[in-house]
Amino acid sequence: MKLFLEVVPVGDAVAAIRRIAPPVVAETVALKDAYGRVLARDIIAGEDIPGFTRSVVDGYAVIAADTTGAGEAMPAMLANTGRVAMGAPEEQAIAPGECRYVPTGGILPPGADAMVMVEYTEAVGDEVLVHRPVAPGENLIARGEDFAGGDVVLEAGRRCSPRDLGVLAVLGVAEVPVAARPRVGIISTGNELVPVTATPGPAQVRDANSSLAAGFVTERGGVPVPYGIVRDERAALEEALATATAACDAVLLSGGSSKDERDICAATIGDAGEVLIHGIAIAPGKPTIIGRVGPAPVIGLPGHPASAYVVLIAIAGPLLAAMTGEREVVRSVAARLTRNIASARGREDYVRVALDGEGGAVPLFGKSGLLNTLAASSGLVRVPASREGLEVGEEVEVLLW
Ligand code: AMP
Ligand code: MG
Repeated sequence: MKLFLEVVPVGDAVAAIRRIAPPVVAETVALKDAYGRVLARDIIAGEDIPGFTRSVVDGYAVIAADTTGAGEAMPAMLANTGRVAMGAPEEQAIAPGECRYVPTGGILPPGADAMVMVEYTEAVGDEVLVHRPVAPGENLIARGEDFAGGDVVLEAGRRCSPRDLGVLAVLGVAEVPVAARPRVGIISTGNELVPVTATPGPAQVRDANSSLAAGFVTERGGVPVPYGIVRDERAALEEALATATAACDAVLLSGGSSKDERDICAATIGDAGEVLIHGIAIAPGKPTIIGRVGPAPVIGLPGHPASAYVVLIAIAGPLLAAMTGEREVVRSVAARLTRNIASARGREDYVRVALDGEGGAVPLFGKSGLLNTLAASSGLVRVPASREGLEVGEEVEVLLW
């Protein structure tokens, strides 16, 4: 049995997985389908938005200078020239001494340079009394104030939020250039595993990792392709790996990734392709494999679900980011540790923590075979390889799930 005498730093493992990541493939989708997709190109405003200067209030378009000094006692008196229609062009100019009613969002007539809110006016016959002065530009959105034609509005690598869809709509982007979703094959290995629909017999457990990995792949913009449970037998694993790597852009295997002779994943990947890394200086998650079969990167995850999840975050996350072009956005909060965390120097430790709602991060030191800490935690605290632990009261960054 070979031991893990040579483990590589997390940074090297991430660099390796990025190096073998297949390139981003661009496609276009209808705007209604763009939520959650990663932009493949910068989105540039094709024209000024809005394309005309518009009012942000119900009121009267005026020439601001005509309202100078207006007050309750001495209102400005302007000739009422009617009202503009919503969504229709307005060519008739406002002359000095005139005003025109404009509803919210309506176009500012030529010649006018401000809006007076209707609340500060009083219509008297053909005249409008204005009780407050306005400055030029007041109560208006200028043409191009939202987005100027030529501006880069949304950058490539951004994942489209609901807000972004609204922005894309006003820009007229009906077909959105996005990264194709990578297809990621998922295989669970282990003679003790049964599917979620089965009642485990003695010494059997339900397969958690297939679902865990599928959710993660979906979260990170991929399409999970499940290949189910494979027994710890070379022929069965060879066949599943060949099928998955032929049909998918990348493959996640779990279980059997250690260096015991019954752990056949590394040898199977090596025979079908190549193993680049076997063993990462990360805890939990040391028995991790990074390899490749044909063009498809293959990550061998440890079997313990909590370890598998840490490796998904640390290694599969960067892989999916590279394959979708997504700029990695770390969602984190600062918190103070409520207990010491011990750690070995030279190893990057990821400790699950719960936020206590009072600024504290409570380390959950469950065994990595337990799923309860995954359910109870809010995220991870990373202990850098250079540190021998973190101390109670220390401010840490909690990487939120
Ligand atoms: P292994 O990495 O195959 O040595 O497995 C380590 C531990 O993780 C064992 O207790 C396995 O039963 C467990 N395990 C492996 N794969 C899974 C899975 N897909 N779901 C739940 N537990 C698993
Ligand atoms: Mg196993």
